[in-house]
Amino acid sequence: MVESIHARTRDHRERALRSAGWNPCLLRSEDVYIDLFTDSGTNAMSDRQWSALMRGDEAYAGAQSFYVFEQAVRTHYGYEHVIPVHQGRGGENILSRCLIRPGTHIPGNMYFPSTRAHQELNGATFHDVIVDEAHDADGEHPFKGNVDLAKLRAVITEHGAAAIPYVSLAATVNMAGGQPISIANLTETCDLAHASGIPVFLDTARAVENAWFVKQREPGWAHRSIADILLALCAPTDGAVMSAKKDCLANIGGWIALRDRDLAEQARGLVLLYEGLHTYGGMAGRDMEAIAQGIAESVTEQHIRARIAQVEYLGHRLDTAGVPIVHPIGGHCVCIDATAVLAHLPRTALPGQTLAAAVYLEGGVRGVERGTVSAGRDPATGENRYPSLEFLRLALPRRVYTQSHIDHVADTVIRVHRRRDRITRGLTFTYEPPHLRFFQARFAPTEGTSIYGS
Ligand SMILES: *Cc1c(COP(=O)(O)O)cnc(C)c1O
Repeated sequence: MVESIHARTRDHRERALRSAGWNPCLLRSEDVYIDLFTDSGTNAMSDRQWSALMRGDEAYAGAQSFYVFEQAVRTHYGYEHVIPVHQGRGGENILSRCLIRPGTHIPGNMYFPSTRAHQELNGATFHDVIVDEAHDADGEHPFKGNVDLAKLRAVITEHGAAAIPYVSLAATVNMAGGQPISIANLTETCDLAHASGIPVFLDTARAVENAWFVKQREPGWAHRSIADILLALCAPTDGAVMSAKKDCLANIGGWIALRDRDLAEQARGLVLLYEGLHTYGGMAGRDMEAIAQGIAESVTEQHIRARIAQVEYLGHRLDTAGVPIVHPIGGHCVCIDATAVLAHLPRTALPGQTLAAAVYLEGGVRGVERGTVSAGRDPATGENRYPSLEFLRLALPRRVYTQSHIDHVADTVIRVHRRRDRITRGLTFTYEPPHLRFFQARFAPTEGTSIYGS
């Protein structure tokens, strides 16, 4: 599908950003030139996916499209029970409701906003057990998504296995900048958890991208296919929650995949209440067909190689120009270290959100803050959380932009970086919603009417 996009004037962008409360998330997409807000649901579907849509069986119960979808998930992810949901957070809601009791504890390799929000809403406390290297933007550790087993052991010892409903892992850790977990570490983590009777659930939104990094970086996997590595990543875990809007090259959808029959029955019961019947889970039959076809395309080497190479191209251009980015370059995004670019602003002035505003004003490029605004407040103390990493994330939709679009993005960011001293003020909240605040928050410059000026 080809869409037209529009380059607006600087004046137009200034007006648009002001009326969006300095939050690029609240812009209309027609005011955005290159949209790198997310790679979620923004993928371009293939000719085969579009034709698969036409086969959608829209029967309310037992649609043929469900069985096509179920088979694709079983074949490529290897779990027996496949339960459709409307998108990833629908699955997070259901898994959290099934397993979490108030006062329990969930360890995980860094948090994801919607995942942790559902865990906290159900009364759990999240514990980050990712390796220390993940919190360091510069280091070249090949698997910054790995779990620090000593940290996990400490959480189990402190709270006791009975108070830990599950370990929540992600394959390629979004909030660390799209960093992978190794199969060796994932297997050891599962062994440790299972030894205490704790199940492990994997967020597989970008597990195919993780499989690519395993093939490139982990000894012993170079000659295996992406499809084989994907199965190996899922094999040691007890189940998965999936947002099909990422790796699967679709625009909507998701699933919960489980090995345990009883848990699957319980989850299906809640799907009926919150999502839809257990054979469509909030999706149309045609969506399930497009996802099934997308899964098959996602594991082809030519697709994943081109996908990751485009992200690397953007990263290398910024690196070469001296823009501080998170290393190694991630699977789905390039993350710009906002605390390094805007080192002259205090953390309370929200450098990540400020950089997002500046990059939009400069070139109509929309990214998203991943820092203080995204991290929200600690539910126990009500204080802002200041994560060690604060960046502007530029996430690339799959199969959408050409190299010249990416060059425009690089040129824009490089210009903002060169003139970073002109950004003299940060932003402050004027409206702060209670949950996932980054989506709807509104801001104003900390002083005056602009982030520029003396
Ligand atoms: C997108 C995403 C989710 C949530 O999925 P939605 O489809 O947006 O509801 C969960 N985990 C990760 C890692 C994601 O990227």
